[in-house]
Amino acid sequence: MKMLLNGQWVDRDDKIDVIDPFDNSVIDTVPSANNADVETALSAAVKGFEISKRMSVYDRAQILYKAAQIISSRLEEFATIIAREGSKTINEARKEAGRCVNTMTCSAEESKRILGETIPWDSFPGGEKRRGFYYRFPIGVVLAITPFNDPLNLVAHKLGPAIAAGNSVILKPATVTPLSAIKLVEALVEAGLPPQVIQCITGIGSKIGDPLVSDERVRMVSFTGGVEAGKHIAGKAGIKKIGMELGSDSPVIVWKDADLKLAVESCVSGSFWAAGQNCIGVQRLLVHKDIYDEFKTQFVELTKKYKIGDKLKEDTDMGPMITENEAKRVEKWVKEASDKGAKVLTGGGRKGALVEPTVLENVPADATIHYEEVFGPTVNLYPVDDLDKAIAEANSLPYGLLAAIFTRDVEVAFKAAYELDCGGVMINDSTDYRLDSMPFGGVKYSGLGREGLKFSLQEMTEPKVVCFNLPGI
Ligand code: NAD
Repeated sequence: MKMLLNGQWVDRDDKIDVIDPFDNSVIDTVPSANNADVETALSAAVKGFEISKRMSVYDRAQILYKAAQIISSRLEEFATIIAREGSKTINEARKEAGRCVNTMTCSAEESKRILGETIPWDSFPGGEKRRGFYYRFPIGVVLAITPFNDPLNLVAHKLGPAIAAGNSVILKPATVTPLSAIKLVEALVEAGLPPQVIQCITGIGSKIGDPLVSDERVRMVSFTGGVEAGKHIAGKAGIKKIGMELGSDSPVIVWKDADLKLAVESCVSGSFWAAGQNCIGVQRLLVHKDIYDEFKTQFVELTKKYKIGDKLKEDTDMGPMITENEAKRVEKWVKEASDKGAKVLTGGGRKGALVEPTVLENVPADATIHYEEVFGPTVNLYPVDDLDKAIAEANSLPYGLLAAIFTRDVEVAFKAAYELDCGGVMINDSTDYRLDSMPFGGVKYSGLGREGLKFSLQEMTEPKVVCFNLPGI
């Protein structure tokens, strides 16, 4: 596939292979952009903003609605690309493609609700005879940098609101999964988006990242990815807005009065969705000691039923990790934990990029798999018996995206909701629950700012005050 620069689909001799991690076959190639391409993207995006900021809200919304219809009418095509270039099974990929339709539709709807307010100028001395308001204006060129694990919908979470707000966008999709993103850009152009408004530049993040991120023509960097790249980008960005959706090590408390069946099923799915490569994937399960043994038995039993393998087969529950190297990293972390005394209750094996769904207990605090984001199909069980201690344990690591608690006790639920240090608390769902319109983001190393269409639109616009001095009134 090609990249879109200055209204043209262009190729380069220097290419990046897009590889299916299940069988290592090359499914396509994309150009590896160079510094001249970066400059083309930047200068075209500035011109694109001159177009986008003058487009009516109606026109922007119609384009987003149309793009949603296009994706909806080709859902299986989008799902197959997601499943082939990444880790997701075809069923997981279909769900993502469906969510992308919602994301684009909701972006269209929210474009009509970018509101301002009148200002009560005479509320302080000196404001007499003033009348006025503020409205929100588009921020300018938005640089969107996206990760591999939701290669379509996380791109839509940036393109949808950026376009809805009247911005122009430079998209740098994940190096390993650029195809779904390019298909989304194609859908937007087919839906009528002037191609100058969107640049899609493919390439290696560490090579083209710095000149894009540090350029003063970019007014906002909207980044989703790992904390290391996030820190690097924050250091390079200079004076511009930064949105950061980073990693986590999602804790889930299962209290003694939980609906056990619900908790087991939600947490197994939440641990192994997309082979655990999920920013809200369950990593730490803090289970009340009264139900610990029963929970563990049921959890391991259900995990053992997981069918892993070919992503395109309808009955596969879990596919491979994104690369064999990533799978080797997870295998190493499991071994390190087990060498330090952790017990592997099931899983632990690896074949190529396929890692067995793995459940651990007795994981010591100095094991990497305890304190780092694993981003793989493993989960740790810890017994707890005191709510304050469970909450303190959940809060003890430097991340804070989503947390969750299973309980029927409303006081326990409220206490957890208020004391867990994170961007959202799910009650009776695992952390792996996200509605695309909810405010989504984290605290601490999990990020800065919020996505979720209405909230992204706030981040991607600025308020401008308009004040009339009317001495004659
Ligand atoms: P990554 O940080 O390796 O890469 C993310 C993107 O950044 C890619 O497009 C990459 O090419 C680019 N990049 C890398 N170095 C760069 C640089 N120096 N300058 C500019 N761009 C650069 O992340 P990944 O492996 O693709 O994704 C996994 C990570 O993303 C996990 O940590 C996961 O938790 C996180 N994530 C967070 C959310 C969220 O919403 N909070 C959602 C999904 C994934």
